[in-house]
Amino acid sequence: MDLHIHTNRYSGCSNIQPASLLRKSREAGLDGIALTEHGIRWSDDTLRELTEKGADEGLLVLSGQEVACYSRRGEFQGEFLVFGYFNSLGSSRSLEEILEIVHDAGGVVIAAHPFKKIPPEGCFYGMGMRIYDYDLDGLEVAHPSYDQESTKLAEEAMRKKGIAGIGCSDAHDLRFVGACRTVLDDAIVDMKGLCDAIRARRVRPRSLRGL
Ligand SMILES: [Zn+2]
Repeated sequence: MDLHIHTNRYSGCSNIQPASLLRKSREAGLDGIALTEHGIRWSDDTLRELTEKGADEGLLVLSGQEVACYSRRGEFQGEFLVFGYFNSLGSSRSLEEILEIVHDAGGVVIAAHPFKKIPPEGCFYGMGMRIYDYDLDGLEVAHPSYDQESTKLAEEAMRKKGIAGIGCSDAHDLRFVGACRTVLDDAIVDMKGLCDAIRARRVRPRSLRGL
């Protein structure tokens, strides 16, 4: 599955049309995708057309969201993939609040590209080393923005914290759908199954870059 995809329906930064996403996902060999727009979750009603079309083509379509978090003092804490929470979360909450409300609802919170590098040297567009301070359920270990060092830092955090490592394309363009992906040990059929698989760490990151 590719668990981190933006479409132009709710993410202005993406040029992926939802209608063309399903076919492309199947061509990329995916069995499932999760839509993760910025601070917005596709409602079940809005998503229905895509889930039904996906089901016809053997593709599971789920809706999560990607949330940017800011501490109460206004500092950027990173971006996070949220699965299993059924309202849109916006982008003005703290990570502490997100963890509390999502965990209360039975969902999971995953650090999006925590080790994606940005200048100056040693800075990350993501939570970076603060990942060690929070009770997260997983992190992106395979991501198109990662170099070797980022990947190593992510693998180490996954191991030391004993949390799930996933792979995602973070696609904003059709060409990149499936570039990194998550292999699940068991077949799943819904969002609850995905959350359970992540909590049980029955997932593995895979990068197709360089193949
Ligand atoms: Zn994203």
